[in-house]
Amino acid sequence: MKDTFKHQGMRQQLVETLINKGIKNTDVLKAIGKIPRHLFMDSGFIDHAYQDKAFPIGADQTISQPYTVAFQSELMQIKSGDKVLEIGTGSGYQTAVLLELGAKVYSIERQQELFKKTSKFLPKIGYRAKKLIFGDGYKGLPDEAPFNSIIVTAGAPFVPNPLLSQLAIGGRLVIPVGDEVQIMTLFIRKGPKEFEKHEFGEFRFVPLLEDKN
Ligand code: SAH
Repeated sequence: MKDTFKHQGMRQQLVETLINKGIKNTDVLKAIGKIPRHLFMDSGFIDHAYQDKAFPIGADQTISQPYTVAFQSELMQIKSGDKVLEIGTGSGYQTAVLLELGAKVYSIERQQELFKKTSKFLPKIGYRAKKLIFGDGYKGLPDEAPFNSIIVTAGAPFVPNPLLSQLAIGGRLVIPVGDEVQIMTLFIRKGPKEFEKHEFGEFRFVPLLEDKN
């Protein structure tokens, strides 16, 4: 569990890359400059940890590309103390970014193997989510709603209604929508039944899976 000067230097390069690709939020850039992404990946991939690429994390899943993490985090406009729901904990890297931004984080993962691994790993390196949940993200987390923002880190074939209804007024849902390719979509809740929708170009995610039962 080492974080060396070499890793820190590589991280600064990655931050420069993200700035060149258009990421502007300084808190998001600071978080990515701070979090040891190599520790979130299988050892075989450590040399690639600071390239702006997605990588396998087991159970057929991937750790999202840093640019995608930064882009989604920027759209969420997190303020310290915000209550945030993440769908798709995966490696926990995005969770760590949300925690660095000062959010109170609830995160749901449906793969038991990843849920167990990440639940152990995050506190080990000092990242404490409010709750990590093994369950189905399509349902959101009604007991803890409303949320200031909700992020979906897998490609959703459609926008799950529970996620919209669990937003606070003024809250933001950031969700990639589509099958093969996804359109990054932001919903802002303007009133009990009023939502504003913005679209931000194409991304590629592993699918948000529906439960068979
Ligand atoms: N945020 C993660 C991205 C992981 S990829 C990271 O930075 O590493 C997307 C994750 O969503 C996978 O771990 C996958 O198992 C999970 N997932 C897919 N469908 C889901 C669902 N219905 N509910 C919760 N998690 C889901």
